[in-house]
Amino acid sequence: MKLTKEYITNCIEEVAPLVEEISGLECDLTDLNLIILPKNKLKKITPGVASYRSKNNFSIGNRFLGNEEFTKLLLGHELVHSAQDNSFPEFCNTLEVVNRIWKENHSTVSSLTKLIEGDASLIEQELSDKYFKNAKMNLLRFPLIPSSWVIPSDYFSWEETLRKKFNGNRRDINELYTAPIEELVKIFGE
Ligand SMILES: [Zn+2]
Repeated sequence: MKLTKEYITNCIEEVAPLVEEISGLECDLTDLNLIILPKNKLKKITPGVASYRSKNNFSIGNRFLGNEEFTKLLLGHELVHSAQDNSFPEFCNTLEVVNRIWKENHSTVSSLTKLIEGDASLIEQELSDKYFKNAKMNLLRFPLIPSSWVIPSDYFSWEETLRKKFNGNRRDINELYTAPIEELVKIFGE
C-alpha cells in the first residue's frame, strides 16, 4: 500500500484538532502542501515518515513504518511543530537566530530546540495515551513494537523536564515559547 496525499491529508485533518485540544496551540491547515518523498530519499532507520518543513509544508516518506495509529501519531508530532510555528509569529526566524548564536558558544543543542522537541514529544505522548494507544511500529526485523520504545533518549529527557516542572499546565508551557532564552536555559540547562 502506498501513502497517498489524500490518505495523509485525511489523517492530518483528523489529528490536527486533537493536537490543538491537547496543546492549546493552533494549527493552520490552509493551503496544505504535502511532498511525498520516494523511498530512496529516506534515511534508513529513522522514522522519517513525515517531517514539518515550513508553514503548511510537510514532507512525507512513501513507506509505512507501522500501523495506521502510528502514522497518525507521527503526523501529530509534526503538527505540533506546525502549530508552534503558526501560533508564534517570527518563531522560525527566532529559532534560526538563537541556534546560530548558540552554536558559536556551545557544543549542545539550544534550549529553544529542547523546548520545541521536548514539548512535541510530550504532546505526542498525550496523543498516544488518549487516542492512539495501539500505535505500533516496525523496526528492522521486529515488527510492531510499541512506538514509545523508540523515542530518542534526548527528546525523552527534555519531555521529562517539562513534565516534572509543569505537571501538564499548558498555559505555563505555552508561555515558554515567548520567554527569554535565559528562562529556558534555567529550565533545560546549558
Ligand atoms: Zn520533532
